Amino acid sequence: MSECVFCKIVAGEIPSKLVSESEHAIAFNDINPAQPIHVLIVPREHFTDVADLTARNEEVLLDVMRLGTKVASELSEGSFRFQFNTGAEAGQTVFHAHGHITSRTPKA
Ligand code: 5GP
Ligand code: ZN
Repeated sequence: MSECVFCKIVAGEIPSKLVSESEHAIAFNDINPAQPIHVLIVPREHFTDVADLTARNEEVLLDVMRLGTKVASELSEGSFRFQFNTGAEAGQTVFHAHGHITSRTPKA
């Protein structure tokens, strides 16, 4: 997926503000944050969206969910959203599966 922006971030070809990482996924700050905490959870391997990821690799899916909830618990007071926009009509703009961790309540 040579033209995929998130594949390029995973490969280190585009810089990002890394927050955390795991065996199968990385977490980095969204370039255009919608809330005080806005972190993207991105599998290292390319999947089109969360439905494709769920259908094709449960191990990676579980790793994405674990990394997202870990980041959320480390950065927020415990209230957060973990959102997967799926399909253009639902607002998906990058077609490499990713979850958004957003929160209005950063840890003090
Ligand atoms: P989507 O709309 O597909 O659910 O989310 C894509 C997200 O990726 C958007 O919130 C957008 O701000 C973010 N994004 C797009 N390009 C880049 C980039 O090059 N670096 C970072 N850190 N975030 C990006
Ligand atoms: Zn990709």
